[in-house]
Amino acid sequence: MVDQNNREIVDRLIHTCAWCTLLIPTNSETFGFGARASHNVDLIEKKGQFVSINLSLAQKTTVALVIPEDSPARQAGFDLFFITCSQDCAEQLKGALHFELDVYDGLDPDLDEPK
Ligand SMILES: [Zn+2]
Repeated sequence: MVDQNNREIVDRLIHTCAWCTLLIPTNSETFGFGARASHNVDLIEKKGQFVSINLSLAQKTTVALVIPEDSPARQAGFDLFFITCSQDCAEQLKGALHFELDVYDGLDPDLDEPK
């Protein structure tokens, strides 16, 4: 039952743009890219599943697939895979991730909320 639900979620998310959340039709081209997760994120339990990532500066939540251990992308050093509907969305998401990591890398997540 749980596996069935997970499968439906994965099937849905694999066709959803991680930036604009548009549903990508089954036969359309997708634009995906790999990324490295920061070392303090524990993804071992999540391999092959989607995780949500909060981009606090962009005020967005995005989703990424945690790359399975036996995948070539994992061997290339990537932990996460983002799926987008267009090159434009891929660039904007990369930009947001880059900005987020530049600002927040190594900081306490509690500092995300402005005081
Ligand atoms: Zn998009």
